[in-house]
Amino acid sequence: MTETPAPAPVALPEPTTTRPEPGQLTFKAPRRGKPPRHLADLSPTERKEAVEALGHKGFRAKQLSTHYFERLVDDPEQMTDLPKGVRSDLAADLLPTLLTPVVQRVADDGQTMKYAWRLHDGAIVESVLMRYPKRVTICISSQAGCGMNCPFCATGQAGLTRNMSAAEIVEQVVWAARALRRGELAGGGDEDREHPLRVSNVVFMGMGEALANYKAAIGAIRRLTDPAPDGLGMSARGITMSTVGLVPGIDKLTAEGIPVTLALSLHAPDDELRNELVPINTRWSVDEALDAAHRYYEATGRRVSIEYALIRDINDHGWRADLLGEKLAARGKGWVHVNPIPLNPTPGSKWTASRQGVEQNFVERLRAHGIPTTIRDTRGQDIDGACGQLAAATA
Ligand code: SAH
Repeated sequence: MTETPAPAPVALPEPTTTRPEPGQLTFKAPRRGKPPRHLADLSPTERKEAVEALGHKGFRAKQLSTHYFERLVDDPEQMTDLPKGVRSDLAADLLPTLLTPVVQRVADDGQTMKYAWRLHDGAIVESVLMRYPKRVTICISSQAGCGMNCPFCATGQAGLTRNMSAAEIVEQVVWAARALRRGELAGGGDEDREHPLRVSNVVFMGMGEALANYKAAIGAIRRLTDPAPDGLGMSARGITMSTVGLVPGIDKLTAEGIPVTLALSLHAPDDELRNELVPINTRWSVDEALDAAHRYYEATGRRVSIEYALIRDINDHGWRADLLGEKLAARGKGWVHVNPIPLNPTPGSKWTASRQGVEQNFVERLRAHGIPTTIRDTRGQDIDGACGQLAAATA
C-alpha cells in the first residue's frame, strides 16, 4: 500500500454528528452551509441562464460545458477559446473548487485507488476507483455520512452529516476520469497507452443513501449520462443505484425512465431479521421492497441486483437462502440476480463473514431456485476502501 499525502495542508473536519441510537432513522439532512453552485448542478438551460445573468453571451455556457465535461478542464488558463475576462468570470462563478483531496491510497497492485475528499465545509467523503479486465468502476458517495443506520455498515454508524450536491457527486467521477487520462490506474493486462481508460461504471455504493438525496442524485445521473458536451456521455446501463429500499424513491426512479441498474440491499429475506439489519425495513417491508424492485424491472427491463452481505450465523442459514429464492422466484423469471458479498467487518463489530462452505451452500441453494447468483469480489480491503468501510478510517 502506498499513500500520497494531500498537497496542501488540510484542516481536520469537525465532528459533525452524534452516533444514532440503534434503529433510529434520519431522513432530513442537518442544514449546513450550502456548497457553492457549480456548472454540474445545472441543466443546459439553467447554465445558459446563469451565464447570461453574469452578463455574458448565452453560447458561452456550451463552451464552458465542453471544457468541463468533454475536455475535463476547469482551469481557466486552458480555455483559450474564451476571452480572458470571460474565462475568469465564468470559472469563478461556475467552477468553484468542491473537492479537495485529503488522502489517496493505492491497493491491489495499483488497480484500486481510494480517495478521501474534504468538502467546502470540512465534511469528508470517499470514492473508490477500481480497474477490472474490461471495465473501470468508480464507487461514489452521495451523502456525507448516512441516516439509514444499518448496524454492520461503518457509514451508517457515523450518522448523517449532510446531503451532497449534484456537482459534488459528479466531481468524484470527473476527478477519476482525469486520473485515468493521466494513466494513474494500473493493471488489467490490456494496457493501451494510446487510448486512455475511461470510467465505464459508476456505482452509488459509497457513503450515503442516494435515494434519500433524490434531487441531487438524479441531477448527477443526468450530468453523467447526458451526451457531451452537456454531460459526460456515459451509458445509463453502466450506472448502479444502490438503495436500502426506500420504496417511494424506487418508484420515483422507475418513473424517470433512465435505464440505470437498481441494486436493493436486502441482507435478509424475513422482516424480523431485516428490521434489525436494515432498519428502513420497519417502514417498508421485505415484500414491499421486492415488489418495488420488480416494478422497476418491469418498467425498465433492467435486471435488478439483490445485495446480501453474508454475516456468520446471522443471515447465512440455508433456510434463509431458500426463503429468499422462493420470494424472488415467485415474482417471475429473469428479473433479478443475487450478489452475496462476504461481510467486511467494521472495526469493533461483533459480526464477521460467513464460513466458506456456508457461503457456497447459500449460493447453491439460491441457484437451485433458478436465481442467478454471483459472489461479489471485495476490493481495497487493506485500505479501508471496501464496502461499508468508507469513512471508518480517513487520514
Ligand atoms: N445506501 C446504499 C449504499 C450503501 S453501500 C445501500 O444501502 O444500498 C453499498 C452496499 O454495501 C450496500 O448493499 C450495503 O449494505 C453494503 N455494505 C455496507 N456495509 C457493509 C459491510 N460491512 N460489508 C459488506 N457490505 C456492506
